[in-house]
Amino acid sequence: MKVPEIFGSLVFNDAAMKERLPKGTYKALKKTIEEGKPLDLNIANVVAHAMKEWALEHGATHYTHWFQPMTGITAEKHDSFISPTEGGGVIMEFSGKELIKGEPDASSFPSGGIRAMFEARGYTAWDPTSYAFIKDGSLCIPTAFCSYTGEILDKKTPLLRSMQVINVQALRILRIFGDTATTRVETTVGPEQEYFLVDKEVFKQRKDLIYCGRTLFGARPPKGQELDDHYFGTIKPRVSAYMKELDEALWKYGIYAKTKHNEVAPAQHELAPIFDSSNIATDHNQLTMATMKDIANKHGLVCLLHEKPFAGVNGSGKHNNWSMSTNTGRNLLDPSKNPRENIQFLVFLAAVIRAVDEHQDLLRISVASAGNDHRLGANEAPPAIISMYLGDDLSDVLHSVMYNEAYTKKDAPIMETNADVLPNFVKDTSDRNRTSPFAFTGNKFEFRMVGSAENIACTNTIINTIVADVLSDFADELERVAAEDLTAAAEDLVRRTLLAHKRIIFNGDNYSEEWAIEAERRGLLNYRSLPEALPHYTDEKNIRLFGKHGIYTAVELRSRTEIILENYAKIINIEALTALDMSKKDIVPAVTSYIKELAETAGAVAALPIDNVSLPEVALVKKLSDLLSCFFKKIENLEKAVMGAKDVDGVAETAMYYRDHVLAAMQELRAVADEMESNMAAKYWPYPSYGTMLFSV
Ligand code: ADP
Ligand code: MG
Repeated sequence: MKVPEIFGSLVFNDAAMKERLPKGTYKALKKTIEEGKPLDLNIANVVAHAMKEWALEHGATHYTHWFQPMTGITAEKHDSFISPTEGGGVIMEFSGKELIKGEPDASSFPSGGIRAMFEARGYTAWDPTSYAFIKDGSLCIPTAFCSYTGEILDKKTPLLRSMQVINVQALRILRIFGDTATTRVETTVGPEQEYFLVDKEVFKQRKDLIYCGRTLFGARPPKGQELDDHYFGTIKPRVSAYMKELDEALWKYGIYAKTKHNEVAPAQHELAPIFDSSNIATDHNQLTMATMKDIANKHGLVCLLHEKPFAGVNGSGKHNNWSMSTNTGRNLLDPSKNPRENIQFLVFLAAVIRAVDEHQDLLRISVASAGNDHRLGANEAPPAIISMYLGDDLSDVLHSVMYNEAYTKKDAPIMETNADVLPNFVKDTSDRNRTSPFAFTGNKFEFRMVGSAENIACTNTIINTIVADVLSDFADELERVAAEDLTAAAEDLVRRTLLAHKRIIFNGDNYSEEWAIEAERRGLLNYRSLPEALPHYTDEKNIRLFGKHGIYTAVELRSRTEIILENYAKIINIEALTALDMSKKDIVPAVTSYIKELAETAGAVAALPIDNVSLPEVALVKKLSDLLSCFFKKIENLEKAVMGAKDVDGVAETAMYYRDHVLAAMQELRAVADEMESNMAAKYWPYPSYGTMLFSV
């Protein structure tokens, strides 16, 4: 297999368009893509025809508008290309109208009260900035999704809006600094995707994995991740075969799958692509997640994307690497050789710092999900407190700006290997900080709080919007300054910004308890869970921010808040019902069977002619019976908690109730079940153990 030959072979990409479209059509389409101009129907007809011919040659029989509703996953409804002819035959047809607009029934997608059932109509609209591709015999056309009344119902539209807004504001800054060559600034994203692989046969025996994607029970195995022997360890042959096929499938979709390795927890792995524009990176990440699951299935495996499938070992996240780059190929977060003198870089950097400090709430909200709550704010990285890591080098630079002090660049130290065969090398002047939620990593920021199963559109919509908002303020100020005063004025702006927002910078260990205390002293937010965070989405400040930049109307923001809160309650409800089902149908019968065997054995042993023996079987029966009584109570408590949810009014209150009562009752139930599992004969326990799940592949 030659990679360059298969790369993008299932994509109607620029090369395919150039080859198949008449010159004039190609140019008009490019204009649409590059300048965001509306597409003429005549041109759409020509594009649709070429796209169909290409798709048919590649074995497609159907087409679908592929979109990202608020469910978090992608949605598709497939139509075949067939059109009846006289005489009972068919021809394959596809029109420009079908390409640019679809009308799926919107009533079955979450809308958060925007749309009444009788206004079921919804529209999908082609996003020509993301290429169409073929998946399972269908031509997939990336589209945006909105309601009949025009409110957006998806995750792509706000992202595209935010990219447009930051483009405008970043260009203003570039013009101020004399850049007349750049005509577009695009945000770039490289999402590192973590996941777990478990054996399919093992998976099938766990109702919790099937219904919830995470284990609700399971005693600690003798070995977890304490030896640190999995991270970057040799990849097992079965996993390696999986990764190989996954890479090939992704390459065919034109996805730059680049890095693959084992992660910290047993059975945990990571895949990172080369970064792309935010919009493409988001579409590709959705497609990557779907492909990961498909390919796993072929290998007798199941890919778990849940943020916390297993207690006691690390959960999975998705590092969202973010930057801005110009169409002339410049990365605006590249500090260059001498960042102290690079005032334009400092302005962009200061904008990000202020944006993160002012909108900690939104960043936290952008990654809130029932699954991610098990990572953020629990005993795992990163914490729910937003802070930024800049490293020693950049911190020195900013210190010198803030306090008007001279800056001397530290020389990069030479690392002596002291072995003749090894070369000495130049060390980076600052180390990395793996614990920071928002870290500057050389020429980009890495936002590490995103959950592995989440759509990155939401996070990037928010990063783009909050940075654009500050850039627009900066531009308002600097546009008024005379050219000869610009450097001094910009430096002053950076200084004031840093002094006002330096509390958000923290270069230390984010996992430590001292940090939580220090962060509180600094007045940083700490929303430990989704029900605490989400109600702030519609705070006055946020309605104003999103309204000002045309990202969300107040109605859209309220609807999103409602959808997310409702979704949280629904997920915990499903988990609770699953836990009850497993407890009553499987766990209780298993424990009673084992007790019966022990009791019978005890009886038989007691009948033997031996004097005064204290029977271990009896002790074990006693222990398990006690645990079982306790377990019964916990089942009852959970049942009551689930029933009680019906009496709670309001989506925010309901979500909070689920966290405080239902989730809490589930945790107590689990603790007793795990204790029983540890005391049971393996053959009686109804589910594969943690050891089997984590080490079976
Ligand atoms: P790590 O050590 O965190 O794995 P890497 O340098 O390997 O860091 O990069 C991780 C991710 O960051 C990759 O997906 C990469 O493409 C992405 N990345 C690199 N530069 C940029 C950039 N300018 N904008 C967005 N993402 C970037
Ligand atoms: Mg990383």
